Amino acid sequence: MTAPTPLIAGNWKMNGTLASLDEARAVAAGIGATPARVAICPPTPLIRAMREALAGSAVLVGAQDCHCEASGAFTGDVSGEMLAEAGATLVILGHSERRAGHGESDELVAGKVRGALRAGLEPIVCVGETPDERKAGEALAVVTGQVRGSLPPELAGKAFSVAYEPVWAIGTGLTPTVAEIEEMHRAVRATLREMFGAAADAAPILYGGSVKPANAAEILHAAEVGGALVGGASLKATDFLGIINAL
Ligand code: PGA
Repeated sequence: MTAPTPLIAGNWKMNGTLASLDEARAVAAGIGATPARVAICPPTPLIRAMREALAGSAVLVGAQDCHCEASGAFTGDVSGEMLAEAGATLVILGHSERRAGHGESDELVAGKVRGALRAGLEPIVCVGETPDERKAGEALAVVTGQVRGSLPPELAGKAFSVAYEPVWAIGTGLTPTVAEIEEMHRAVRATLREMFGAAADAAPILYGGSVKPANAAEILHAAEVGGALVGGASLKATDFLGIINAL
């Protein structure tokens, strides 16, 4: 059994300008010895400049979405190949803001994962239940169903991660209890094993949703938590470093 290398990824969402690269530089300068791989996923137009700003540092640059195809008549879309050429090595796929705001289904997310793999990008596949689904007692079934539907068989043997992000915890300051996080992460791990065998034990399962310096230590040390996907708190270097250093 391979213990996964933790991944702590910052999701800047639709935030940041060239001036914000100073925050990324401060993360690179302030990062100490950490067992985690650290990534920042800025909006697409900042990827190349961020890769240049972080040159020589261990901080990775990721994207927030990609199209399934490499090129074609898809106005407004960006392919994995384009993101890789700009300097991204990872890509967040199936974030709940894209599932809800852009109607992304599990099937579409799986297609995007295939596109990311074709381009040599490492996918971070997001799953998570809505508040109503949790209230109805369906959280485990919904999330494991998303894992089955969004992760294509082509991921076998490839580097990837799953991010469990309860929709009700994103940007709200609310978080599940550690016991709830551990229950969900164990269920995701069991599903990954069914799908990919023991090789999938190398894939970290990230937690996302209102991770802050104040709650990072208990979340990051919970069973089966292999890192974090951080939204709001990744925009400020001091907050993001506080989370990274909590591991
Ligand atoms: P948050 O966002 O940390 O601001 O809650 C997490 C995410 O959406 O990835």
